[in-house]
Amino acid sequence: MLHYKYLIIGGGMAAASAVEGIREVDPGGEIGVITAEGDPPYDRPPLSKQLWTGQKKMDDILRPVSREGVTFHLQRTAKTLKPAHKQVTDDTGETYTFEKLLLATGGTPRRLPFGGDNIIYLRTLESYRRLRDLAGREDAFAVIGGGFIGSEIAAALAMNGKKVSIIMPEKGICDRLFPADVVAFLNDYYRQKGVEVLANEMAANLEGRGADLEVVIKNNRRVAANGVVAGIGIIPNVQLAEAAGLETGNGILVDAALRTSHPDIFAAGDVANFFDSALGARRRVEHEDLANSMGKAAGRSMAGEPVNFRHSPMFYSDMFEIGYEAVGELDSRLNVAADWQEKYHTGVLYYLDESQVRGVLLWNVWGKVDEARALIAAGEKVSAASLKGRIAHS
Ligand SMILES: Cc1cc2nc3c(=O)[nH]c(=O)nc-3n(C[C@H](O)[C@H](O)[C@H](O)COP(=O)(O)OP(=O)(O)OC[C@H]3O[C@@H](n4cnc5c(N)ncnc54)[C@H](O)[C@@H]3O)c2cc1C
Repeated sequence: MLHYKYLIIGGGMAAASAVEGIREVDPGGEIGVITAEGDPPYDRPPLSKQLWTGQKKMDDILRPVSREGVTFHLQRTAKTLKPAHKQVTDDTGETYTFEKLLLATGGTPRRLPFGGDNIIYLRTLESYRRLRDLAGREDAFAVIGGGFIGSEIAAALAMNGKKVSIIMPEKGICDRLFPADVVAFLNDYYRQKGVEVLANEMAANLEGRGADLEVVIKNNRRVAANGVVAGIGIIPNVQLAEAAGLETGNGILVDAALRTSHPDIFAAGDVANFFDSALGARRRVEHEDLANSMGKAAGRSMAGEPVNFRHSPMFYSDMFEIGYEAVGELDSRLNVAADWQEKYHTGVLYYLDESQVRGVLLWNVWGKVDEARALIAAGEKVSAASLKGRIAHS
């Protein structure tokens, strides 16, 4: 049986930041990290962006996690958690006890009901290596899903000279995020970049073998591809917490100190459901900024520092030459007041719910995230007209 003062389940970005947070407060307490992956912590966002454009190399994405008093148990999956005994057992039967535990288990890609292992679900470094290797040998790729991962990896593959088709049931690229005119613009933009955009189309099956595949679309059209990637969302890994009787909803519920319903068990990152003080509501967010800030705060909290987590996370994405940062709720069902300096090139889009700003999209506008956060947190009543120029474009 292994004993750690601090035990972390998950070896992703929240876990890496938690190790930093613990070390800022407690320089010596033994830390154990159980992670299902064969790689130590790394940054995930470059898997669909900078590793494809050459802006980053593999060494750049590895997290410089302290090894002082930190033991990584790689390729181990935690299977049971007994809060009353402060005990965790992994898939090899190894048992760990802890004083404080962090659940940083992230999420698992949602899978399609067909295609099996012929479909690459881009989430881990291992899945990136597989796709990269295939892209080194093959030419044609089908991407299923038009959200963050799908739109980014379609752009990355196209920028690497690949023939790419992107298939989605929605009206277009990032339809759940952006207003209809921006989605229509993005569809055209991707097409100009040589990507076949198949919007309002549902992938229904995958036929063929090896690098000779065909995605069958509901209307019976077929898309030939040597490789298929899917990005259709993740399911938060709450099973351990649920089976242990911790409070869960959409994710594992945590308080402002990032504690779960058990006083010595904490949660952070994609799996955690927290109170976003700027929005005045509970939410679960799947973004790097949250994994890093919440992971670090959870580490400090585990080490005994009083923590009142009030961070409102930002997120960002790159699609060819377009880049954006955003904060708050970006939901295309909200009313959007657009303040373009140059239409679809540079602008600020305000997402409004009953005259209150709930989200801000900074389209090729940089360094304004804190202003956007402050505007959302102010919660004042605004009109679309009053928002013109509210956040400057440069
Ligand atoms: C390709 C890609 C691109 C992205 N791009 C962006 C972006 O541009 N901007 C942005 O803000 N966000 C982006 N994200 C999202 C961001 O990477 C995530 O929000 C972040 O990784 C979440 O960190 P986490 O530590 O909570 O979870 P994860 O990084 O998912 O880590 C969870 C870890 O827990 C392990 N685990 C789970 N269950 C167990 C268990 N029972 N036992 C042991 N280990 C377990 C998993 O194997 C994994 O290693 C991207 C994600 C991907 C995949």
